[in-house]
Amino acid sequence: MINLIPIQQAYSNIFQRQKSVPSLKVSEDGIRAYIGEKLSPSSEHYFINDNFVKHITLDKVLGLPSGCPMSCDYCPGYKEHKEFTVDKTIVGDFTDGIKDYLFNDAVMTAFETEHPSILYGGDTDSLIYVDTICEIVKWYTDKVVPMIGKDIWHHCYTTGMFTTEEDLEKLAESGVNELHFHLGASDFSETAYDTMRLARIYMESIIVETPSYPKHKDQLFKMLPIIEDIGVDQLNLSAIDIKNANRKRLHGDAYKAFNMVLDDGGLVYDIMNEVVEKGYSYSVLDLNNFVVMHSQGEAKWVRPQDCEDCTF
Ligand code: SF4
Repeated sequence: MINLIPIQQAYSNIFQRQKSVPSLKVSEDGIRAYIGEKLSPSSEHYFINDNFVKHITLDKVLGLPSGCPMSCDYCPGYKEHKEFTVDKTIVGDFTDGIKDYLFNDAVMTAFETEHPSILYGGDTDSLIYVDTICEIVKWYTDKVVPMIGKDIWHHCYTTGMFTTEEDLEKLAESGVNELHFHLGASDFSETAYDTMRLARIYMESIIVETPSYPKHKDQLFKMLPIIEDIGVDQLNLSAIDIKNANRKRLHGDAYKAFNMVLDDGGLVYDIMNEVVEKGYSYSVLDLNNFVVMHSQGEAKWVRPQDCEDCTF
C-alpha cells in the first residue's frame, strides 16, 4: 500500500539524508547531488535548461512496434509488455518529416547548448533497433553537426538482454558514445552484466541507470563491486513513478513533486556511503524526483561573472 507523505516531509528527508554523505557534491542551485569526479554530458539536461537534448523514442513515431520485452513489477505498463516479442529485423522509418523537425529544432536551439545530446529510449529496450539508431546517429553526424558546429553526445537506454557484440560494434562505429544499462529490468541478470563487459570494450562511457527500489536493496549492494570491476563510469539511481496502473503493486511512502514517486527510504545515500567507503571509482547521481521536476524548468542559472551579456 502507498502512503503519501507531504512534500515538506519529502524535502526534509532528502536534505537529512544528504547530510549523511560528507563528500557529497551539490550544485549552486542545490538540485544536483552526486559523488565522484565528474558526471557524463548526458546528465547535464537535469541541471541546466538544455534545449538540444532530444529523447528519441523507438516506437510508433518511427513506425516501430510499441512495447517492451521486460516485465518489471514496478512498471505502469508491464501487463501489456509481457506479450511483446523481440524482432531485431524490424527497421524504423526515419522519414523526411522527422528529419526536417529534428534539423530545425537543432539549428534553433544549438546556440544556447553547451553539450548537445540525444537519448534513444522509450518504453522498450532501444537496442532491439540498432540499425534504426545507427541511421539516425549517422544522419546527425552528416547533416546536423556541420551546421551547428558542435559535437553531439549520443546515448541509448538498454536492458543489456538482447544486444550482441556485433550490435555494439555497429553502435560504436556509427558514433554512439554511451549506453545506460537498466539492470533492475532483468533482476540484475548475468546476461546484462556480460553485455556490459563487452560494451566496455566499445563504448566511451557506460552508465548503470536503475531505480533505487527498496525491494532491490540486496541486489543493488551486490552490484556495486561488480560494476567497479567492469569499469562503469557512473551510477544513476532514479525514482519509481507511481501511476494508477502500478500503485496497487507498490508499497511504502510516496511523495508528489511533478510526478508521484516512491520514496526510497534513503537507499540512494546509503549506496553513496558504501561507494565512498569501498573507494569505488564511479560517480553516483541521485536522480530523485526533485531533480526530474526541476529539469522541466525554463531558466538556466548562469553565474554573473560567466555571463557576458548579464545586466544583473
Ligand atoms: S524495462 Fe522499462 S518499460 Fe520495460 S517493463 Fe521495465 S520499467 Fe517498464
